[in-house]
Amino acid sequence: MRFVHFDEGRLGLLTDDGDGIVDLTDRLEIDARDPLLAYLRSDDDASEYADADPDYTRDEVELRAPVRRPGKVVAAPLNYENHIAEAIADRDITTDEWFSIEDKGYFLKAPSSVVGPDHGVELPFSDRRVDHEVELAFVMGSDVKDVSAEEAWDHIFGYTVLLDISVRGDQDRSNRKSYDTFTVVGPCVATPDEVGDPQTLQMELDLNGERRQDENTNDMVYTCADVVQYASIGTTLEAGDVVTTGTPEGVSALSDGDTIDARIENVGEMTVDVTGRDVRFADVDVRKGGQE
Ligand code: MN
Repeated sequence: MRFVHFDEGRLGLLTDDGDGIVDLTDRLEIDARDPLLAYLRSDDDASEYADADPDYTRDEVELRAPVRRPGKVVAAPLNYENHIAEAIADRDITTDEWFSIEDKGYFLKAPSSVVGPDHGVELPFSDRRVDHEVELAFVMGSDVKDVSAEEAWDHIFGYTVLLDISVRGDQDRSNRKSYDTFTVVGPCVATPDEVGDPQTLQMELDLNGERRQDENTNDMVYTCADVVQYASIGTTLEAGDVVTTGTPEGVSALSDGDTIDARIENVGEMTVDVTGRDVRFADVDVRKGGQE
């Protein structure tokens, strides 16, 4: 099943062709601002509606982030070797040391940065480089703590496409990656039976129709389950938390008016528009930490 959150608090299933939506909200009597979270915490089973006739077409509704306000967004930095090389080159540093998720651990993005694909990305600055990062992400299905990688797979509810939008520069990651709209999640959460092996999925990102990122998830340093194991050490990962697994090479700068198309095999695809604004205060210089 491919779960979608649409309009105001409505939960649905995306049909196999990706064009139709079966509305589960009334069928399962869900009344919540975050309907997938409510579903995850209930004993409901949507599978009896998996083959129902669609109530809407995809373009009739506004697709929201599958989880509107996750408790946490756990994010892997530097989890593809080719992006590690790109990050080192971009910083104009040389290092002989291994520079990866194994050394850096994870970071957290503000839950308030999460939006759905139909909302779009809003750039806060025109004079700082802001990059797209396409990533395979997943939603936790149960609460876990101190869980081994082997067991972690059973606690993943489903997989989704995530854009980890990032201001480049020297500020802390949680600052650079937590602006409103900087975590685009969608279009759906595809359950493991739909996805197959999550470590062999092709993923692509086009910027204004031009291919920028094109990679297979088999190139991750830490697998999805490894990230869960690492992040669960001493910390409860809760049902509905979103975990994102890092981006491959090909990140590039976004501008006002851009269009992003992001796709992950067996998971879904989404088109996301980019708009710009320019916030300034005389007494604070957020451009100071920039590299360009
Ligand atoms: Mn990232």
